[in-house]
Amino acid sequence: MSIILPVAQRGEEILKLKAASVAESEFSSEWLQQLASAMHATMSARNGVGIAAPQVYISKRVIIVASRPNPRYPDAPEMDAVVMVNPEILEFSQETCLGEEGCLSVPNERSQVKRAQVVKVRYKTLTCDVVETVYEGFPARIVQHEVDHLNGVLFVDRT
Ligand code: ZN
Repeated sequence: MSIILPVAQRGEEILKLKAASVAESEFSSEWLQQLASAMHATMSARNGVGIAAPQVYISKRVIIVASRPNPRYPDAPEMDAVVMVNPEILEFSQETCLGEEGCLSVPNERSQVKRAQVVKVRYKTLTCDVVETVYEGFPARIVQHEVDHLNGVLFVDRT
């Protein structure tokens, strides 16, 4: 059973920092695996569709993206949670879309945020394999929201 961690709330310094890259020596480590497990458990316990390490007080570039259909995005794909280490958005589509967002760190607040419709992202897995993939629609929105967290940006800063 994984540990559920406390979630940093809007206004806390940790959410304003640029998170550090995960170092080569940390890949395949017990610590990185445990961080990902605890992040996943924390996200699931709060019915989130994504989470970033700074939200659990770890200023490292690790995110989880876990789209699933919900009342606001009934057509969102159901996907297995993807852990992305040191993610980089390589390309943003010119086409944008407005959509409602919320955040585990900003309870009881939602707003419309403009995001690229499609993003191409490169990340590493927990074992340091490099993956490049394209996301569209709601999953693309989650990727952009979570990468923002790694750069100290909240969705409310974009409205
Ligand atoms: Zn968030």
